[in-house]
Amino acid sequence: MITSYIQLTLFTVMIAVITNYCRFKGSQALNKWILIVSSLVLVEIEGLLFEFIHTNWIMLVFIGVSVVCFHTYGGAVSACAAWLILFMHTDESDLFILFSYLIFATVVYLITDYIRNIQVESDAWLRKLSENSKQLNVFKEVSFSMQQTLNLQKLLRTILTSVTAGHGLGFNRAMILLIDESGTRLKGTIGTGPMTVEEGYAVWDRITKNKYKLVDLIEIKETEKSADLLLNERVKELDISLEEPNFLYKTLESGSPLHISEIDENDIALQLFTDQFNMSELVVFPLISQSVKVGVLIIDNPVNKKSITANDVDSVIPLATQAAIAIQHIHLYAKIEDMAHKDGLTGLLNQRAFQTSLDQHLPLGQQGTVSLILLDIDCFKHYNDTNGHLLGNQVLIQLADVIRNSIQEHDLAFRFGGEEFVILLPHTTKETAIRVAEQIRVNVESTSFPCGEKQPLGCLTISLGVASSVEFQSSTPFDLVNTADKALYKAKEAGRNKVVS
Ligand code: GH3
Ligand code: MG
Ligand code: MG
Repeated sequence: MITSYIQLTLFTVMIAVITNYCRFKGSQALNKWILIVSSLVLVEIEGLLFEFIHTNWIMLVFIGVSVVCFHTYGGAVSACAAWLILFMHTDESDLFILFSYLIFATVVYLITDYIRNIQVESDAWLRKLSENSKQLNVFKEVSFSMQQTLNLQKLLRTILTSVTAGHGLGFNRAMILLIDESGTRLKGTIGTGPMTVEEGYAVWDRITKNKYKLVDLIEIKETEKSADLLLNERVKELDISLEEPNFLYKTLESGSPLHISEIDENDIALQLFTDQFNMSELVVFPLISQSVKVGVLIIDNPVNKKSITANDVDSVIPLATQAAIAIQHIHLYAKIEDMAHKDGLTGLLNQRAFQTSLDQHLPLGQQGTVSLILLDIDCFKHYNDTNGHLLGNQVLIQLADVIRNSIQEHDLAFRFGGEEFVILLPHTTKETAIRVAEQIRVNVESTSFPCGEKQPLGCLTISLGVASSVEFQSSTPFDLVNTADKALYKAKEAGRNKVVS
């Protein structure tokens, strides 16, 4: 008896080894059949060793395995098969045994089904949890990156990288369009992602090979010039009116994401997107901060063609909200910075900006020459007294335009004081500066200013003083301005409407 038990144990171990070997070598589809056949072999061996006295019980192993492998169908067939096999070996044909086998199969089925359901549910929770943790991580890294910059291009690149990176939200492609100053048009600003499927796989290959993380990708995007070139070229051509009821207008009006899976042929703007970017399914997110519309973010999956779920859309919303706030902050910062450096009346740079620029450009004096033109309106007090202060202001605005149009792009014009202006000319010799000053003088003289003819000289004129950094061994801002001021004084003394250096 003991030898039989030892033999049974040895056979069971052997069957287990052979079964598992076959399962690893064989295909997935064969796995279940291998298990069922093994359980049947075990039943037969046990029967042979113990003269089939326990076979009615051992059959439960075979039925259990069948239920686990083929559920209700496996349970019904195996219960009947077990009853037949038992009959073949023991001549026992009690229908009660068949009935018991069927009850056993049902109980095993119910228990395994229950366990399966718990497993499915816990898998779903686990998936959700890991998605949420991934989103949180993306959100944390992006928020950090956003806080680090007041540079709009860098911010937009960070947003797009987070939306498209595998370690981010994992969409194939994304683009941002921002509303222009008029508030009536959306201009394509930046995009990231491939134009073709092949390009998409090539980029993914590179990212996988280099094991880039989200932060690495954000950094890379800053330095990389060649990536997304074609997409960006096309994105920058986009100029969509918000005065027509197109899909972008609707998204911004509703304030909620718009998921488009069927292309409306009557929407011309949408047609343009599908033609230009080969889009079949896309989601548009409005970028709105404190009721101010700043733009839209568009995402799609042209490479893996994965359809976009409601969950996917939800995952982008916090990022889009954060992005809109950051974009608006940058706009406001730029506006304030602009106001701090510009003169409110003429739009030229102001005296504060002049000080900064002079400090920046004057060290150039050692390598090249920096020149300065100081100009003052002649008899402006007379103008104001004769025509009023308001018309005087108009003259200042018009004069600023004349100055702007008379200088080159790299020259800087400032409103220095009430009716005094200064022009900073980097890399410009004194001779060239005198020529520029003379040109400005002639341009002012020949411009028709309102009531200019009432001026003592018969028209509105200016006097100009020119100074250049070569005149000094080590020029300081004070030297340069002081010399230009003295020259200007001489021009006034010499009868006005003159250039003196
Ligand atoms: P000069 O030819 O010697 O320069 O004579 P001027 O009358 O122009 O004398 P000055 O340069 O001292 O002129 C200052 C005048 O400029 C005083 C003021 O009436 C006028 N002014 C200064 N700032 C403004 C401004 O913002 N708007 C207007 N309308 N006038 C201004
Ligand atoms: Mg003056
Ligand atoms: Mg004056």
